[in-house]
Parts: sequence; structure tokens; C-alpha cells
Amino acid sequence: LSSAFRDNQSHLKLVLLCTAVSGGGLWAYGESVAPEEAVTEKKKVVVLGTGWAATSFMKNLNNPKYEIQVVSPRNYFAFTPLLPSVTCGTVEARSIVEPVRNIFKKKVDVQFSEAECFKIDAENRKVYCRSSVNNNLDGKEEFVVDYDYLIVAVGANVNTFNTPGVTENCHFLKEVEDAQKIRRTVIDCFERANLPDVSEDEKKRILHFAIVGGGPTGVEFAASLHDFVNEDLVRLYPGIKDLVKITLLEAGNHILGMFDKRITAFAEDKFRRDGIDVKTGSMVVKVSEKEISTKELKNGEIKTIPYGMAVWSTGIGTRPFIKDFMAQIGQASRRALATDEWLRVEGCNNVYALGDCATINQRKVMEDIVAIFKKADKDNSGTLTVIQFQEVMKDICERYPQVELYLKNKQMGNIADLLKEAKGDDKKESIELNIEELKTALSKVDSQMKFLPATAQVASQQGTYLAKCFNRMEECEKNPEGPLRFRGEGHHRFKPFRYKHLGQFAPLGGEQTAAQLPGDWVSIGHSSQWLWYSVYASKQVSWRTRALVVSDWTRRFIFGRDSSSI
Ligand code: FAD
Repeated sequence: LSSAFRDNQSHLKLVLLCTAVSGGGLWAYGESVAPEEAVTEKKKVVVLGTGWAATSFMKNLNNPKYEIQVVSPRNYFAFTPLLPSVTCGTVEARSIVEPVRNIFKKKVDVQFSEAECFKIDAENRKVYCRSSVNNNLDGKEEFVVDYDYLIVAVGANVNTFNTPGVTENCHFLKEVEDAQKIRRTVIDCFERANLPDVSEDEKKRILHFAIVGGGPTGVEFAASLHDFVNEDLVRLYPGIKDLVKITLLEAGNHILGMFDKRITAFAEDKFRRDGIDVKTGSMVVKVSEKEISTKELKNGEIKTIPYGMAVWSTGIGTRPFIKDFMAQIGQASRRALATDEWLRVEGCNNVYALGDCATINQRKVMEDIVAIFKKADKDNSGTLTVIQFQEVMKDICERYPQVELYLKNKQMGNIADLLKEAKGDDKKESIELNIEELKTALSKVDSQMKFLPATAQVASQQGTYLAKCFNRMEECEKNPEGPLRFRGEGHHRFKPFRYKHLGQFAPLGGEQTAAQLPGDWVSIGHSSQWLWYSVYASKQVSWRTRALVVSDWTRRFIFGRDSSSI
């Protein structure tokens, strides 16, 4: 009986059963229990995905007037920030996943289908899906779902930049299965190198772990692998421990380019001290079964590096069916689904997109920035004092934290230079402000660029925001002028989505983490590692996974990591 209570349909059956048993009869049930809302037609919302964006939407949606159909090839949510820890057995794969059915709100009518969408027909409001369950369904593996509202939260693909040999020979670190496969391969490399009759050179090759991409994921994996090797494997494989090598290949000039310079410098320095070979300015151009070819960006020299295991972690790309959908709605030239600031996909109705598969069109943001500058230039002189300039920048960065992040990545040419100048030590009293130059600088920003970072933080904030809009949608439609707190400027019924950056972590191994928190506050070391533990324990999606993750960390502290290759 208790399990029957877990979903609404079973609840209905249970009430019928109880009514029959008590001799009450169906008519009495219909009169006394069925609420008026039950007969009003529910709006059908189809949610694609069970990742950060979709799950946070589902967790925060509490309006029972929707009928929700979730479609995803995964029937679980995975806590991706802990995937690098899974690669080395610091935490177990099952500890970071939660079945989505446990996450859905009981009071909302939710159906889940383990399937992947392969086509969206926005004109006829249909999504075409294919079952992911691996059995013979006699041609029933494909089905069509109608929607009133569609929420696209399908994340992204790995991006190989069409580099030859990557798909065939490299590991990726995107899904739980990837992390499990990496864990097995690392151990397999040690076992292979430990076999008799393997030459010294071959042992060295097999024990060479190459990581491509010096972003947060590549860096964290390199650090985790280094810890795993030095804290656990060296003890178990004493004969080959000195042959192990970890190389981190990065095409840019530095690793962790999106972090504060202090963090970048610390990470590079720590990795050098740890013996991790950091090769910057080195672009991978081809990967074969046993060798990686790189092009040195400073002199164009091509080098080949023998390797035993390679992990490719260079960024994300668009899923093929999303590309088809983008072509259908006139967004073929973009890299991600463009939405407005209310997360509505441009070019079609009732479709929302969030998380890694989407990007907010920054045209409006650009216009706003120019307007803020113009407003600050009260006397129309074309100049601002340094103080005025700093205030303007503060205002812009407060309104659009993504601009601050973007400026830090120095991708905005003139504005970044102006900012540096204003913040720098030179005692200039005023800054020339050429609006035309400003506009040119802004227009240089690639419109295809993803302004907001592709992070769980963004995806989950967008999911929460959209759920809140959906919770109030009907109320706001009935009362368009609505309570002011729902509306932003303009005539839209909801305030636009605003991202709140809460900081970012870069675990560097050896129980040290770099933390970059809002307000340019940087902390590196063991204390930040404890902050990392606390934040990631608190961010777990359920008490069950929280308990599992904390117990995995404790187990690792006491017994070390498990090195069996199952
Ligand atoms: P996802 O979480 O990827 O979810 C996409 C969902 O769509 C999945 O459920 C998938 O099964 C489903 N799906 C895929 N194809 C289809 C289809 N055809 N039809 C229906 N459903 C489909 N971010 C941070 O903020 N902090 C971190 O520390 C951090 N660490 C990371 C570490 C790693 C190793 C990785 C890979 C990512 C990390 N990220 C981190 C980034 C973060 O995981 C992503 O930004 C986030 O997952 C994006 O959320 P999403 O909902 O858009 O996509």
C-alpha cells in the first residue's frame, strides 16, 4: 500500500479500492473527492533531459495544473562535478546518481519515458522520440509526444573539433559511464605494464596518461589521477611506479584560463612540482592508437607523443538533433539554441531552452551596455572620469555578471583594455569614451559565443527560474498587470533571467583546492579543500547521495581507493 501511494495514479486506484471496500460506492467518491480542477484540462509540458537544468526545473515546479512528460535516455540525475572523483575511485558512481523518479514532486503529475528525442517539430508542437531501453519492442521503440510547452534541456556533446582519431582512441569525461570506463582503463594500463616480457619502452608508453584540455575538468582529472597513482597505486605496483607519466596538453598559453591569474599560476606551479608535465601552446592535431600528434603553436613544429591512455576534455558542442532543430527555426549559423532573456527559444512559440544546449542572445545586453555608457556621459563630452568609468563598469557587472566573467576572459577587446586601464595603477583622470568604438568592440563579440559559462550553476539557476515562471504563469495571465514583484521593466509578465555567479572551484590534488568567489576573493589550499567538501556535500540532490558521498570520502581517508578493475 505504501508503494502505491508513491504516484498519483496509484493513489487514485487506492482511493477507489478503499471506497469499494468501505462500501461507499463510486458516486460518493466522485462527489466528495474529485476537485473542480481535475476536470479542467491540464497544459502538457514536455521536458527533454534529466540533467542539471531539467532536474532543477522539476524540483521547483509545484503547480499541479500541468501534466509533465519527461523524456531522457537517462533515468537518473548525475552530479557531474564529482565525475573526476569517480575516475579514480574516490567516490563510487552510484553515490553521485539519483533516480529521477525520486526527484519528481509528488503533487505534480509527472510521467517519465526512458527515450531520446531525435526530432522536434515546433510547428505542429510534437517531439519524436526513440526508446533507449535495449530490448525488442517490435517497432514500438519510436513514439511521438504532443506538447503545449516544450522545455529543451538536453545538455551538449563532447567537442572533438573534428580532430582525426579522437573519437576512436580517446576517452571522454562527460557521462557516468565515461568515468567508470576511465577508472577501469587506468587499472588495466597498470596491469598490462606489469605483465612479464613487456619491454621497458612499452611499459613507459602504456603508463603515459595524456590529458587534452587544460580547463577545469582536464585539470581536476590530472590532479585526481596524480593522487590515485601516488597515494594508492605506487604501493601496489612498486616495480613500475617510476615509469608513470602524466601529461596535460593545452592549446592556449595557460591552463585554467577562465580563472584568476593567481590560481592559474599556482596550478601550473603545483603541477610542475608534482611532476605533471604541463605543455601549453600545444594543439593536438591527430590521435592514433598509440601516438598523439601535436602542433606547437609558437613554431608550427609537429611532435608525436606515445601514450597509453588519452582523455579528451576540450569543451562542448551541439547535439545533432538540436542542430537540425536550429536549422528548422532559422538559427543554423549559431552554436547553441538562442533564447531571449526569458529563456524562450527565438523563432518559435512555447519552446524554452536552458543549460548547456542554450545561449541567451546578447543583443539586448549589448544595447543596454551602450545605453549605460551613454547615460553616464551626461555632458555628451565623450569622456568619463576614471571614477565614473568604474561606476559604470560596476553597474554593468552587477546587472550582467556574465559580462564580468567575459571581461576576465579578455575576449572583449577594447572594453577589457579600458577596464584594465581604469583599474590599473596609472593615474589617468579621465577615459576617452568613443561610443562608436565601444559599439565596434561590442559587435566584435562573436554572436555565436556562449556568453554564460556552460556550468551546472547556470543550468540549475535557469531551471529554478523557469519553474518559478511556470508556477505563476496562470496567475500572471489572469492578472497581466500583476504584482510588481513578478515583473521587470517593460511589459513582460516575468522579470528576465539574471545569473548570479556564486564562485567556482578548481581542485588541484593533494587535498588542495583553488576557490574563486564573488568579489575577486581567491583562496587556495587546504582550507578551500574543506570548503569544497562542504559545498559539494550540501549541493547533493538528496540525503541518500549526500550520505553515500560523505561515506565514500571517509572510506577513502581510512582505507585508500579501491584499485580493482571491475
Ligand atoms: P546535462 O546535465 O548534461 O543534462 C542533459 C540531459 O539531457 C541528460 O539527462 C541527458 O541524458 C539528456 N539528453 C541527452 N540527449 C537527449 C535527447 N536526445 N533527448 C532527451 N534527453 C537527452 N559545472 C559546474 O558548475 N561546476 C563543476 O564543478 C562542474 N564540473 C564538471 C565536471 C565534469 C566532468 C563535467 C562533464 C561537467 C562539469 N560541469 C560543472 C558542467 C555541468 O555538468 C554542465 O554545465 C551541466 O551538466 C549542464 O546541465 P544541462 O542540464 O544543460 O545538461
